[in-house]
Amino acid sequence: MLNLVLFGPPGSGKGTQADNLKAKYNLVHISTGDLLRQEIKDQTALGLEAKKLMDQGLLVPDAVVIGMISSKLDANKNAAGFIFDGFPRTVAQAEALDALLTEKGTAIAQCLFLHVGEEALVKRLLHRGATSSRADDRDESIIRNRVKVYREQTLPVADYYAAENKSTDIPGEGTIEETFELLVAQVEKLK
Ligand code: AMP
Repeated sequence: MLNLVLFGPPGSGKGTQADNLKAKYNLVHISTGDLLRQEIKDQTALGLEAKKLMDQGLLVPDAVVIGMISSKLDANKNAAGFIFDGFPRTVAQAEALDALLTEKGTAIAQCLFLHVGEEALVKRLLHRGATSSRADDRDESIIRNRVKVYREQTLPVADYYAAENKSTDIPGEGTIEETFELLVAQVEKLK
């Protein structure tokens, strides 16, 4: 199995590139943000609780997202591999993911870390906010809060994978095509 973590701050292009990698390598794309937005759309109790946190740019509890990931792994037993987008966002989530994958006799092959500076992120997210229905992309102070939460709670996840020699830095400020080529070059090395 080829299991990849697509890592980086909000607005670094994880969703777009995860879709591209999914298509090229026939992977199952799991985005915890998308799963949570579906819960909100379906007006489930979980979705209504999560929305309060998401609207402020705060993380939802680890147990909630780990439970979602566990069900997705179980629902895709014959997958060629997974691409995780927006997960893990805390070291506790990274540890839980390792445990779930070990149970299935597999592991994370690599964490691909997209690097984009804060001003470029804010610009991209405000642009996305103007053209999509995401409430958390419309307000600059919420965007900056998400970047702060990323720095404080999520960045240690990159160190977690680096300690296992499983993190690769990818410059993410080029065009979608340029960044995709850089990602593919790394994935080819893993195959
Ligand atoms: P995203 O679509 O990845 O930008 O996620 C949107 C929002 O969903 C985040 O700002 C968090 O509130 C929540 N979220 C998504 N994934 C996670 C996660 N792995 N852990 C905690 N909260 C998450």
